[in-house]
Amino acid sequence: MLDGETRGGWDEAAEAVFEEVVALRRAIHAEPEIGLHCPLTSAKIKAALAGLPLEVREGTSTTGFVAILRGGAAATGAGSNARTVLLRGDMDALPMTEETGLPFASTIDGRMHACGHDTHTAMLVGAAKALSARRDELAGTVVFMFQPGEEGYHGARFMIEDGLLADPAPDAAFALHISPNAPSGLVVGRPGTIMASADTLHARIIGRGGHAAMPHEGLDPIPVACEIVTALQVYIARQVAVTDPAVLSITKIEAGSAHNIIPGEVTMLGTLRTLSEATRATMHAALTRIATNIAAAHGATAEAWIDTGYPVTVNDPRGAALVRGVATELFGTAGFAPMPQPMMGAEDFSYVLGRMPGAFAFIGAAPAGSDPATNPPLHNTRMTIDEAMMARGIAMHCAVAARFLDRGFD
Ligand SMILES: [Zn+2]
Ligand SMILES: [Zn+2]
Repeated sequence: MLDGETRGGWDEAAEAVFEEVVALRRAIHAEPEIGLHCPLTSAKIKAALAGLPLEVREGTSTTGFVAILRGGAAATGAGSNARTVLLRGDMDALPMTEETGLPFASTIDGRMHACGHDTHTAMLVGAAKALSARRDELAGTVVFMFQPGEEGYHGARFMIEDGLLADPAPDAAFALHISPNAPSGLVVGRPGTIMASADTLHARIIGRGGHAAMPHEGLDPIPVACEIVTALQVYIARQVAVTDPAVLSITKIEAGSAHNIIPGEVTMLGTLRTLSEATRATMHAALTRIATNIAAAHGATAEAWIDTGYPVTVNDPRGAALVRGVATELFGTAGFAPMPQPMMGAEDFSYVLGRMPGAFAFIGAAPAGSDPATNPPLHNTRMTIDEAMMARGIAMHCAVAARFLDRGFD
């Protein structure tokens, strides 16, 4: 539990930097960048951090960087060795054209901050300013992780591979993601799995083309492909526990050229989502086994492979409890809502939480007067937010970091 002094302090600290944070968010929003290289965004962040007592470290794979703040106070809780805590904000946008009509809307056709990463980055800068201003009170080190390439580019993994999370090695990591479909400022989280894994499936079924009037002279791969699609769904229904589910969708099937020609091959594309690494591994093995053996049963051949996407995002129960405790201390019991089920979307913060305990949580951003249930969601061309929620996001970052440094997960 936070004491009253700590709680009140982080509220006010967030308010003190709020105006600058809104201006930074709008500047980033107007000039979105995509992928692992977001040089203009990184430059805006670094300009905003200039003059703070931060040590900046960069890698070679991305334009992401970490900024390290070393506190000046001693930890007081159990095991009071100085701790290190990581706070992460992602910074990349999406390949879509904005239709919000906002005065600071994207100036670049085909690019939009529709996942709120502009907001995440700006809130993290706000937290860096507020925590730097009270550096002497911090009982350890804060690592601010400014990460590009979250939208499918594995930015977090590249930053880890670049060694940016090695020295100092954080003892815990936390991240916030906005949601226009939750009330503004409401923190939403859960222990355990919070986001799914996301892999891309490919299969190629090879038969032998010929005349459609004499199929026996060729080897038609289309019914073989249909059997594989059905068998994969039967496998999930009969072999995957409903309590640890998998979703597999074949989303594209390509074959053929005319009504009277049997094609030589079929290609298939799809997505696999799971809520545990165990079910994920089971499904990877099943895809290859089912595709190759069904093809073989018909005298055809099949190749199946997987483009490995993001792992399952799993919150440490102690990290989730810390986030919940801080949110209710800062904003009252109505300031936090438990999330009944994981989301089937994926997040590359999973790479960070695969290496250290911590938690990923959502924070509501529904515009004033809107209905959270019907607002344009993340990844929508009309997605907008209530900027006022950023003050809460900054306060959350600061209070979570300060509390972990002081007391760990206690
Ligand atoms: Zn996204
Ligand atoms: Zn996102």
